[in-house]
Parts: sequence; structure tokens; C-alpha cells
Amino acid sequence: MVTSKPHAVLLASPGMGHIIPMVELGKRLLTHHSFHVTIFVVTTDSTTTTSQILQQTSNLSSLNIVHVPPIDVSHKLPPNPPLAVRIGLTMLDSLPFLRSSITSINNLPPPSALIVDMFGLQALPMARDLSMLTYVYFATSAWFSGVTVYFSVSDKKIMERHAESREPLSIPGCESVRFEDTLEPFSSPGGEMYEGYLEAAKQIVAADGILMNTWQDLEPAATKALRENGILGRFTKGEVYAVGPLVRSVVKKPGGGKKDAVLQWLDGQPDESVIYVSFGSGGTMSANQMRQVALGLELSQQRFIWVVRPPCEDDASGAFFDVASGVDSTMSYLPEGFVKRTEGLGVVVSMWAPQAEILQHPATGGFVTHCGWNSVLESVENGVPMVAWPLYAEQKMNAFVLSEELGVAVRMAEKDGEVVGREKVAEVVRRVMVDKEGVGMRKKVKELKLSGEKALGIFGSSHHSLSEMSKECEVHLQASDAKLSP
Ligand code: UDP
Repeated sequence: MVTSKPHAVLLASPGMGHIIPMVELGKRLLTHHSFHVTIFVVTTDSTTTTSQILQQTSNLSSLNIVHVPPIDVSHKLPPNPPLAVRIGLTMLDSLPFLRSSITSINNLPPPSALIVDMFGLQALPMARDLSMLTYVYFATSAWFSGVTVYFSVSDKKIMERHAESREPLSIPGCESVRFEDTLEPFSSPGGEMYEGYLEAAKQIVAADGILMNTWQDLEPAATKALRENGILGRFTKGEVYAVGPLVRSVVKKPGGGKKDAVLQWLDGQPDESVIYVSFGSGGTMSANQMRQVALGLELSQQRFIWVVRPPCEDDASGAFFDVASGVDSTMSYLPEGFVKRTEGLGVVVSMWAPQAEILQHPATGGFVTHCGWNSVLESVENGVPMVAWPLYAEQKMNAFVLSEELGVAVRMAEKDGEVVGREKVAEVVRRVMVDKEGVGMRKKVKELKLSGEKALGIFGSSHHSLSEMSKECEVHLQASDAKLSP
């Protein structure tokens, strides 16, 4: 007999793009699957912006959120460390706190399961040690999950051919990965990033289960391939569950609250007339590229909201750790006179905007996105077609899915190291907002929105998947209880 509800501990790695989907998963487990939930959030700074954003995101008082004391690994880093190295070291340093906190939670039953994202894998041995089930949450596509699962058993010679001859990488049961869209570690087999990713892939497939923020009807082939008896599922120890789309819902301010200025501005615009331009929580561009975006928006003559942050010349994820670094109201890096000239036509927001609210607003009609998976799902959830402008990580694969498989985005023909000119920026914006092509994309993305809602419904595939995972945890809890009973 089940003595209590299972208790899941979720570990979120630094970066709003990692924290937000983990919180959404936690909310879902709590509200729809009767779990107790504790979420540990790892951050790299002690400023309050991350927790303020988190507060707006997690409007549930019964969600137990624990902030791991900020961790600074700067003294341990090599010069110009890749993002993954910095996050990995930070996560490693969070383990002692995590272990002592998990073992001393006394107002809830002992946790039955640990759910980590791709950067929290180092915590899995600890969970096993504490007799917890282990799950990895890919807050991204089934295709990317499939690529990672297959990589864990990949033949190095094939990977070398992909890197050297630029041949597409065949993934059983899924779309092949074109070299132009490949992941950075795959471009140098045997290199440090490659080996690190291979190690991670092996740990992922050895977990008791894998969760993905996608749904069956969005990616039928990849989700099928990953099922227990699918062509990729045989490489994973546990079941692979598609549980999405889990995205941030708009949180109403208590008592109505004061509306954000950008939302007030949106209220005055016609329906589907504004293009929202944002490159995620950390995306940055060179000064020249930002200039071209500004001039391109002006040239397009479309209403816009553009979230800007100071340019960064050689790192497209340059602001990943700096969400909390405050607002630069001077925005002196924008072309001279741009803000004045576009007054009334558009709004420029420094550093951080209420994205979920903007995308949900009826006046928003398009989204220029870097194709971070959360942004993609938020756009789909609100039926907003996109311009896909990928910058780093698996974003080029996401851009491929959106533009070539689903037909809900125009892809920016970006080439590494080349600046996209203003005419091109204006052209893609108009293709989504004005041209007939945009009308077709809008129709398709609205169909996807309905399909996502269906998946989460009580008879939907994602609800079913999370129920299955929940049953696993209940069985595990019963077995643990049975061991403890005299
Ligand atoms: N986000 C936001 N305001 C911003 C930038 C980002 O609310 O100005 C949120 C966005 O809604 C999404 C997350 O931050 O939920 C970014 O995640 P995504 O996967 O799109 O990209 P990442 O930041 O991980 O590259």
C-alpha cells in the first residue's frame, strides 16, 4: 500500500533557459500527478534578479524551491571557457550542499526520485547512493534527445566522416543531422568537448528514465524511435517520456498590479501587428550585427519589440550568466538616432522582457528567435510564427525543425562569422508579417498550438507519459516502504 505521495527532487542548472523548464516540470508533477516537489536552483551570482524572475515564474506556494548558495568558480576556469565547462564546474561545487540538504529535508517524505537536466548529471551517483530513482530531463526536442542517445553508442569513424567530409549524420528513426546544423562537439571528434559530451551521453542513457519537453504529435518519428522497443529506445536503460509542451504560463500580478510598460504599449497596437525580437536569456551579437538588426527593423516598417543587451564580439552566449546584471538604459550601442526615429513604431527593452506575456498578447504577430527550445515552445503555444535565427548549442537543429519540417518559421540564412545585412533582416521580417508565406505559417503554428494542448489534456500523450513515470516512482516508494517495515 502506498503510504504517501512520491517526493521528486529537481535540480536546475544555472541559466533562465534551464531553470524555467525545470520549474514548469515541477509545477506539473505537483498539480497533475500528486507529487511532493522540491526544486534546487543553482545560480552563479547573488543578485536578486534571478530569484525575482523565478518568483514571477513559480506562482505556487506549495512548490518547495531551495536556492543553492551562489557558487563562484571563476578561479577554477581556463581562459575563455566554453559555457558547458563553466556550468559543469558550478554544478560540481553544488553537490555537497545538495546532498546535505536532501538528507535533512524533514517536513516531507524522503525523496524517491532525482530529476536533473543535462548539466546536473554529476548528481546521479549521489541519488543512487540514496536509493532514489534517476531521471534526466531534456528540456528540448526528441530529435536532439535521439541524437544524444545514439551518440552514446556511436562509431567514432562515422563521427569523423561527419566532421571531415561534412556528410550528414544518420540517426536511426530520426532525421539526419546536416553538417551545417551539427552540434559543436561533433565538429572535432576526439576533442575535449566531444569526449565530455560522449561521457554525458553515456550517463544519460544509464538513468532510470529520460523526460523530454516535446510531444508525440510534434515529433512522431523521433518519439517513436525513442520508445522502449524503438530503434533508439534499446540503447537506454529506462523509458523515454515525451511530457511537453511545458512552458511558462502568464502569471497575473496579485490585485492586478502595475502593468509593464511594454505590455501597455502592446495594448495600443492592432492584432498580430508586432514582431518580437529576442535572442533568449543569454544571446548576444557583435556591435555590427546589432546595428544591422536595428536598421533592418527600421527598413521593414513593421511594429517591433526588441530586447537588447550590450554587444559581444566573439561569444554568441555572452550574456548567459548576466541576466541579473541590470539594465543599461543608455543603450549607446544602438545606431545614432534609432530610438528616436522608431518612436511609435517600436520599443527597445534592455536586458530582459516579460516574454511569456508578450507572446501571449494578441498584438504580437511574429517572433525573431534564436530558437532556444523554451522560446520555440512559447511561440508555438501562442500560435506565433517565427524567424529562426540560431546562435549556439542545438539551436541550428531547432531552426531546421521549425523551418523545414514544420513550416512555421522562415530561417535566417546565417553563416558563421558573417554579418547579416539590414536588407536581409527586413526581408525575413516582412516574409513573416506581411507576405502570403506568413499567412500559411500562422495557420500551421495555430494547428500545432492545438496539438500541444491536446497532448497535455487528460487523455493526451504527454499526460499519459508523466502518469507512467509517476507510477514508476510510486512502485519505487512502495518497495522502499516495504524494506523499512518490520
Ligand atoms: N526570457 C524572458 N525574457 C527575456 C529573455 C528570455 O522571459 O528577455 C525567457 C523565455 O521566455 C524563455 C527563457 O527565458 O522561457 C529562455 O529560454 P530559451 O530556451 O528560449 O533560451 P536560452 O536562454 O536557454 O538560450
